[in-house]
Amino acid sequence: MEYGTKYKEILAEIRSLSPATDPILIAVSKKQPYEVIKQAYNEGIRHFGENYIQEAVEKFSKLFSEIPESKEQIKLHHIGPLQSGNIKKVVGFFQYVHGVGSLSALKELKKRAEKERQKIYFFIQLNLTNESQKNGIDPTEFLELKDSIRDINSELCEWEGFMVMGPSSGEAKETERVFESASNLRNSFSPKMKLSMGMSGDYLMATRYGSDYLRVGSLIFGERNI
Ligand SMILES: *Cc1c(COP(=O)(O)O)cnc(C)c1O
Repeated sequence: MEYGTKYKEILAEIRSLSPATDPILIAVSKKQPYEVIKQAYNEGIRHFGENYIQEAVEKFSKLFSEIPESKEQIKLHHIGPLQSGNIKKVVGFFQYVHGVGSLSALKELKKRAEKERQKIYFFIQLNLTNESQKNGIDPTEFLELKDSIRDINSELCEWEGFMVMGPSSGEAKETERVFESASNLRNSFSPKMKLSMGMSGDYLMATRYGSDYLRVGSLIFGERNI
């Protein structure tokens, strides 16, 4: 399996659909074994996404010790919900966190980044699907929190943008509604903000709505092991 080839294919596709954006493609390698990420790295993939910290630390520490220069080249994205208990391990290992779903987690993240003198880029996860079990802040809550979030934004803990997930149903019309409202919210709040949206099933739709970071797993790596 040539992960690098598939990755480049998707990247070319999203770049041609959205030439003004220069989108970043994150290869979501959760639940893929060490050999797979090593091969993907050797085939030129540099942005990786992982949900589970322990798993990510095990796999990528091994890669960094086997291929020392990989540590400087790889960008690690934490894409699962950010839980307070995990923040210690996220800062210094991951460069991006996509799943910031509360002000308290964000405050903790900043505290840690400043203490460790480690840069972290964060995304505020918005819940635009009306599914209550989903992580993220709903739009009304966001309006209340936006000034506090702006105050937290700093050199070491930098606000990169918004992360959004499509509906669990994967239904096309509803996915489109969600991505369109994310795009509208971003544009009216600040066009400088980036959007992290789009997975294997909806990355083309996300690209059409101007997504800057696409998080694609199974389409690159095939089905997950576990
Ligand atoms: C697993 C996951 C992805 C990738 O999912 P695929 O359908 O395999 O592309 C993207 N984003 C998040 C938050 C995920 O948990």
